[in-house]
Amino acid sequence: MRLRFQSVLLSGALLATSSAAASPGPLVPAAGLPAVPRSEPLRVRFYDPYRLLSPEAHTWLEKEVVRAFGASEIGLTFVGRGGPGVIPATLYPELPDRWDVAPEAIGVAIGVHGGPRSIFLSLGAAERALGLPLARRQGAPATAKPSRRRLPGSQSRRLGVALGRVLAHELVHTVAPECPHTKNGLMAKRLSRRMLTAPGIGFDALATRHLQLAASGMGAPETG
Ligand SMILES: [Zn+2]
Repeated sequence: MRLRFQSVLLSGALLATSSAAASPGPLVPAAGLPAVPRSEPLRVRFYDPYRLLSPEAHTWLEKEVVRAFGASEIGLTFVGRGGPGVIPATLYPELPDRWDVAPEAIGVAIGVHGGPRSIFLSLGAAERALGLPLARRQGAPATAKPSRRRLPGSQSRRLGVALGRVLAHELVHTVAPECPHTKNGLMAKRLSRRMLTAPGIGFDALATRHLQLAASGMGAPETG
């Protein structure tokens, strides 16, 4: 299968210049937007086939995605099993080399413009972006079963929140493919460590508008 990538690569790379970037303004939707009809909630299934995340980090991940979408018109729910209409999001230790994505890419969405929709996340890239200690060391036997990260609670939270924000970003590419990368907020092309973990980071007004438009489309009956 040939995977078609949307230009959805995220970077947690910490550039020296990023710390000097202006802080984004408050992320509130523009006033006066028309109400959109209630749509079916977006259903997402999170897969951790390598058992990489602690239960705490997993919980933080899902809470953060739900929080990020909370201000939009799109309801979002995590489900326990896949199925028609459910978007799978799978956590890898690293994204496969053959995908030819940047090493700092934490997430990628495929099938954005057709075909099965799917999202992949890289734990390694997220850990590097956050400066977290890596449980897997270079030189470890490839056959060794990776163990769940035993991180202090605060680090589990940071990791879960960061992965949740990347997943939220990729979900916007998936459900609102017309939404461009934005200057501020979670649809920025590159998310700094602060953007990945600081409190109160959400979608900016433009991304929120695109989500609202997508929500109105999702509320429309299927037309084959
Ligand atoms: Zn993107």
